Amino acid sequence: ATPTSLMVGTGRGAEAGVLFRKGEALQHLQDVAVIAVDKTGTLTEGKPALTDLEVTPGFEAAAVLALIAAVEQHSEHPIARAIETAAQQQQLTIPACSDFESLTGLGVTAKVMTAARAGVTPNEQTQHIALGADRLMQQMGIDIRPLASTAARLGKEGKTPLYAALNGQLAAIIAVADPIKASTPDAIAGLHQLGLQVVMITGDNRHTAAAIARTLGIDQVVAEVLPSGKVDALQQLKAALPQGKKLVFVGDGINDAPALAAADIGMAIGTGTDVAIEAADVVLMSGNLNGARTAIALSKATMTNIR
Ligand code: ADP
Ligand code: MG
Repeated sequence: ATPTSLMVGTGRGAEAGVLFRKGEALQHLQDVAVIAVDKTGTLTEGKPALTDLEVTPGFEAAAVLALIAAVEQHSEHPIARAIETAAQQQQLTIPACSDFESLTGLGVTAKVMTAARAGVTPNEQTQHIALGADRLMQQMGIDIRPLASTAARLGKEGKTPLYAALNGQLAAIIAVADPIKASTPDAIAGLHQLGLQVVMITGDNRHTAAAIARTLGIDQVVAEVLPSGKVDALQQLKAALPQGKKLVFVGDGINDAPALAAADIGMAIGTGTDVAIEAADVVLMSGNLNGARTAIALSKATMTNIR
């Protein structure tokens, strides 16, 4: 590669909203065979909304929603915003909570003081609240079987099911749905046209991930992984590449920095966090996956001209 042609390629990228932060990315992208993509915020808007809430006998929907909103006030996850918004829309009073803990890739827990209510609860009570994936409930020794088939159904609808437990008792199942970005189907088609295998990597539920992958024609799914599991999955994909071929990872930022570093070429979509952008070789200012196709096409054009 001549310095001049690489400069021209980099300049064209900048015009198209593709920022090559490291020079080698433009040269290596022509050899990409597999593109692994984070689901939340990359394929989807990253702005889920609450769609379902079903309580078990003895629990009250509004009361459960207020309690889980209390916990989610302390979380930065997009799921937390969905729950908070729903509670606000129902004009629920959200109690204060303490001992908040976020278990990455699993869910959240905290303690909430509920005030005495005349004729209902005689005294103030401390309730332990847990909200998250089936794996969180299993870790806490909570039997999710009464709601497992509901969870599977919600997942097959492309929604993310989450279990809520109060004082160690299964209290509710909720679901959040995160719309697929309007630009995603075209972007996937474009990547397939370039001959790439598209893999979705997500911490989300396996049923949810499979439903979304089917809708989008994604070739392979890795679901229910922790951030460290994303790195492991990328290393496996890398090891399986044909000689001389490269692996790209595209993420939006939240928890993605290790995955961006683990791929041969890491791409961050421009709306991502600053941390992730620092770990990226390429930044896609379009804020969507179409930028990845542009970047790869540009690399092929640049490197062909050089030869
Ligand atoms: P991804 O970004 O790939 O969707 P995350 O690691 O951010 O994966 O989240 C994986 C799963 O962890 C979520 O689908 C959810 O089940 C659970 N989770 C994470 N954060 C929260 C939260 N604040 N509230 C409830 N569940 C959560
Ligand atoms: Mg994420």
